[in-house]
Amino acid sequence: MSLLERDRGLLWHPYAPVDAGALYAVRAASGVRLTLDDGATEREVVDGMASWWSAVHGYRHPVLDAAARAQLDRFSHVMFGGLTHEPAVELAERLVTLAPAGLEHVFLADSGSISVEVALKIVLQHHAARGRPERSRFLALRGGYHGDTFATMSVCDPVDGMHAAFSGMTADHVFAPRPPAARLLADGSWQVDEDDQAAWERHTRDVVAAHARELAGIVAEPVLQGAGGMHVYHPRCLTVLRELADEHDLLLVLDEIATGLGRTGRFLATEHAGVVPDLLCVGKALTGGYLTLAAVLCSARVAEVVGSGGHGMPRALLHGPTFMGNPLACAVAASSLGLLTADGGDGPAWRAQVAGLQGHLQAGLQPASDLTSVRDVRVLGGVGVVQLDGPVRVAEVTRAVVRRGAWVRPFRDLVYVMPPYVCGAADVAELTAAVVGGVEEVHG
Ligand SMILES: *Cc1c(COP(=O)(O)O)cnc(C)c1O
Repeated sequence: MSLLERDRGLLWHPYAPVDAGALYAVRAASGVRLTLDDGATEREVVDGMASWWSAVHGYRHPVLDAAARAQLDRFSHVMFGGLTHEPAVELAERLVTLAPAGLEHVFLADSGSISVEVALKIVLQHHAARGRPERSRFLALRGGYHGDTFATMSVCDPVDGMHAAFSGMTADHVFAPRPPAARLLADGSWQVDEDDQAAWERHTRDVVAAHARELAGIVAEPVLQGAGGMHVYHPRCLTVLRELADEHDLLLVLDEIATGLGRTGRFLATEHAGVVPDLLCVGKALTGGYLTLAAVLCSARVAEVVGSGGHGMPRALLHGPTFMGNPLACAVAASSLGLLTADGGDGPAWRAQVAGLQGHLQAGLQPASDLTSVRDVRVLGGVGVVQLDGPVRVAEVTRAVVRRGAWVRPFRDLVYVMPPYVCGAADVAELTAAVVGGVEEVHG
């Protein structure tokens, strides 16, 4: 039996029935390329997905491989309760140095979803320690995505998210409208419909004012809503959320799991607005795509309140997973941050890489705007999006793009790419030509 036949009906894959159809077997992964086997043919393709935003340095990077091996030779894992180790301390020091001033404490979590869970817990413990346990709801944005666990599902978009499938099981939070679409222009300025923007600000201020006494915090993906629709919005919205948080004594949680570590052209997407949140989550690209790991960064002010143990609350932050601070993951993450921030001659390496990606993606995806099936083409940093007029015929487009030498995973009406940062001009040209050609073949 082939690998594909053995998988079928045995394993669940993300958001799929257990007997999901089309799969490719990965025979090898190296640099920016995957070797895919569809059961009949093996093909080397450019990876347009960076394994869901994570493999920013590509596969089998010699520096990351060496970091993993070196830690393997010391120890792979020890519990984090009562113990510490060099990789965790080194990673936390690097994160705090790279984050905006004021974010001084780090919680290491097993995955992005768990890091958001922990951030929400910190917000709730903070208010309880100040004697305000009634502050237990969150304001989130429509169109947002924050993870698959129950607390994070509750702050995902209430219509497109999974609220209906688990009705009664998700907490009832408060939602602001999705911010209007905006565009980063070539000269670095932002463009948005000013009437739509003003209406969003008004509506959002009203929603927060109406619920202020029960709200604990605000949760948002800064500037780019990822899994909720690859939607780009104006950084000014973050300034408004920061003002509202200050005005009503709420904590601002920014979920940078997808956007963080350079992907949008700033090291953190919140830097487009110059806003400093109280809590910030990073994940996905943190280990360069090697191992699962995420982190919550927390302000000194908030950590101090949580640690005060006021109003009968415990002084401890109430979370501590078995594999917390896994040394292998931390060692690779510290090494990956080292690669991102290495001196590229003209600033850190990531900045030139992502600026290059942005230009190449713009040039390569531009021809898609002439297709009759395409409604919008947009690029922000290392993210390129082709939005169709209707739902993508996913299996057909995937096959057509793979046949042309690239790997993508479309969803809804979107065929998008966020390639490894190390994708050069020729790789991006191959990738974007495959995307444009694949969309044209299937949808016209
Ligand atoms: C992927 C993602 C998550 C969830 O991370 P997992 O590691 O898949 O649990 C949360 N928030 C955002 C913005 C994401 O893109």
